[in-house]
Amino acid sequence: EHTTTWKQLNDHLAEWVLASKAHTADGHVASYIPELANASADVLGICIMDMDGNTVAAGDTGYHFTLQSISKVFTLILALMDNGEEIVFSKVGMEPTGDDFNSMLKLELVEPGIPFNPLINAGAIAISSLIAGNTPAEQIERILAFFRNIADNPALDINKDVFKSESDTAHRNRSLAYFLKDNGVLDQEVDDVLRVYFSHCSIQVNCTDLARMALVLAHNGVDPIRNQRLIPRRFVQIAKTFMFTCGMYNASGEFAMNVGLPAKSGVSGSILTMVPRRYGIGLVSPALNRKGNSTAGVHLLGKLSQEFDWSLF
Ligand code: GLN
Repeated sequence: EHTTTWKQLNDHLAEWVLASKAHTADGHVASYIPELANASADVLGICIMDMDGNTVAAGDTGYHFTLQSISKVFTLILALMDNGEEIVFSKVGMEPTGDDFNSMLKLELVEPGIPFNPLINAGAIAISSLIAGNTPAEQIERILAFFRNIADNPALDINKDVFKSESDTAHRNRSLAYFLKDNGVLDQEVDDVLRVYFSHCSIQVNCTDLARMALVLAHNGVDPIRNQRLIPRRFVQIAKTFMFTCGMYNASGEFAMNVGLPAKSGVSGSILTMVPRRYGIGLVSPALNRKGNSTAGVHLLGKLSQEFDWSLF
């Protein structure tokens, strides 16, 4: 089955990318972080990686972008590895919200004062504060080391311009963090935890990095290429469950219906997804729909899922 899928991908991916690329015209590049407004609206690139590290890629595959919300999946995993489930789930819940990623509305509903889940901004900020380290600089170094290891790319680094741009304009994230602080969810100071949070959102990657990171999740925490366990299986199961139920913001239900795979999107127009036990997939297309997901990206994944019957159901 892998051989036929791989041949089909090699034969058709470029043409499917071209067809989906037309949908970039229906979206808009995010601009609430000023630096993100410099992204190219008509870009679409995708990389699919198998367990031997072979790739099929098409479109603008050399394009660089920042992880943004995709980073939340991996900081969640690192926080679980640092603290265990019990502590992590005393700070964030397990329920989807159906709200925007930066929603302030439902912070208090799960249990008094804890964010609904670790993938909305409030939850991800709470998670950032759980990363081990004596200073924000140490926490950031540990996050970078972890991400570099998962991506098998020692060159991954923070895009300083995006970091600064987000830091300078993040009034809503700041207010979320103060609210969490007031509710006793954050032990750390607000400015320190936000530095950690903006830093991991600003880590720069390309589609191949994303596909490589996704591959480790697809294989339940084992890097099939280096044949090495990088993440305990249970923590990958937790991360993938959140991706499935909350990974595409308030379009997670629609994505589950049309694509049926665990996925996480970021406002850079990036999507990380996977075919469990088979492929890691990374894509970028900065033009976003009204729900904040890449228009062309969602279209392309719908096409691929249909073509290869990739839905989990
Ligand atoms: N860094 C972004 C923010 O906090 C991440 C949001 C996203 O990608 N959805 O606003």
